[in-house]
Amino acid sequence: MGQTRISTVHAVETLDLLEATYTGAHCALVHDNPWQLLVATILSAQCTDKRVNQVTPELFRRYPDPQSMATANQTEIESLVRSTGFFRNKSKNLIGCAMELVRCHDSNVPEKMSTLVSLPGVGRKTANVILGNAFGIPGMVVDTHVGRIARRLGWTKAKDAEKIERDLCALLPAERWTQAAHVLIFHGRQCCQAQTAWCSACSVIGRCPQIGVGRQK
Ligand code: SF4
Repeated sequence: MGQTRISTVHAVETLDLLEATYTGAHCALVHDNPWQLLVATILSAQCTDKRVNQVTPELFRRYPDPQSMATANQTEIESLVRSTGFFRNKSKNLIGCAMELVRCHDSNVPEKMSTLVSLPGVGRKTANVILGNAFGIPGMVVDTHVGRIARRLGWTKAKDAEKIERDLCALLPAERWTQAAHVLIFHGRQCCQAQTAWCSACSVIGRCPQIGVGRQK
């Protein structure tokens, strides 16, 4: 395949195989509603989902909605989310976000990309997580796993997250975006890792140009 541009048909067939491999791929952040998912996703920056899931039960118990978080004491939030890292900034963003939701959105999480990214601490990645997983609106989440695997598969050459998102959205049908991100993230954690690609055990080895792969197993 070399440098040949990957077609949508080829990419979708590869995605079919990955989805068949990771049938249980899903959003690993535990949540019951869009507000909880927004909070958990803000906390997940530079942190594992597992760690976030350890702190959110108490956080959600004390601050079940934007109204309660909007009037929260920042020091209290910081003590609850400290273990997720960057806890001062995250706490400030959580309160700022809640205040904005109360002030401008009737305490609801908006269902629009342009509105979501105007909230404190919310970038396109977080917004796409919310759109896809809380509202069923197609969102192409691009994290480090998605970017790396998309490059190795030849689906993009970009390194910038926004450019990767644009390339993947152009390549894959919208109804596949949300699950594609889950599957690529699972694949990135379990098989196509940053330092070592377990190509010999990979379900799509026959379809992968393995672009830029370093160490292989
Ligand atoms: S063949 Fe190797 S580089 Fe390609 S997706 Fe599989 S593990 Fe990653």
